[in-house]
Amino acid sequence: MQKGELLYKGKAKSVYKTDDPDQYIMLYRNDTSAFDGEKVAQLDRKGLVNNHFNAFIMDKLAANGVATHFVKLLSDTESLVKRMEMIPVECVVRNLSAGSIVRRLGVPEGLDLNPPTFEFFLKNDALHDPMINDFHIISFKWASADEIQQMKTLTFKVNDILKDLFAKAGMLLVDYKLEFGRYHGKVMLGDEFSPDGCRLWDAKTREKLDKDRFRQNLGNVIESYEVVAQRLGIALPK
Ligand code: UDP
Repeated sequence: MQKGELLYKGKAKSVYKTDDPDQYIMLYRNDTSAFDGEKVAQLDRKGLVNNHFNAFIMDKLAANGVATHFVKLLSDTESLVKRMEMIPVECVVRNLSAGSIVRRLGVPEGLDLNPPTFEFFLKNDALHDPMINDFHIISFKWASADEIQQMKTLTFKVNDILKDLFAKAGMLLVDYKLEFGRYHGKVMLGDEFSPDGCRLWDAKTREKLDKDRFRQNLGNVIESYEVVAQRLGIALPK
């Protein structure tokens, strides 16, 4: 697989073309950002940890019937993915209240949400990822009604699979964000699943083990990601 030109540099990952027009290389960098790119840092091993973490989760999801863009690991910081046309919305499911829902709705952190909530946000840092609904997505033609339904169904299916996976490893999946795209017209899960894009709490102590450690200056950010990986049985190179 030949690595071609840099196509896109995001806040934490870079995407490269390959000699196959249907496949891209995703490079996980150590760059870390929060608050729509306002707070940034370099965290040693973050690219490696998130790349391996994502590969494990994507394989787990695929084994449980969720189609994803992930093809295979290429190196400690690179993965081969299918070239998708991304849908510019973020799908967020919450099992417990935390983060923006606490600020927006004035509810306490840590409430059990039963049933879990589902929210769409527009992927746009300059606008601070505003919350949108199905009507915006259809009217502005970001996705069709059928694609919206598929994104909701797949996001909740991911919840069933991952809530259970993390519970068995002693953790609560508080919330997470997914992004979808189209591969030859079929809706598939894209982007990444790592502690950068979800909230994970220790089930007993409710200690935060995710990117809130970076957002809230709690320290031991990547050390906590590595604890999560270890509990899941993900083998990370030294
Ligand atoms: N999230 C993300 N990228 C974003 C916004 C949110 O990965 O641009 C994740 C975030 O890590 C959390 C979930 O989506 O797991 C819900 O985020 P929330 O709406 O609470 O926003 P936050 O307070 O995290 O900015």
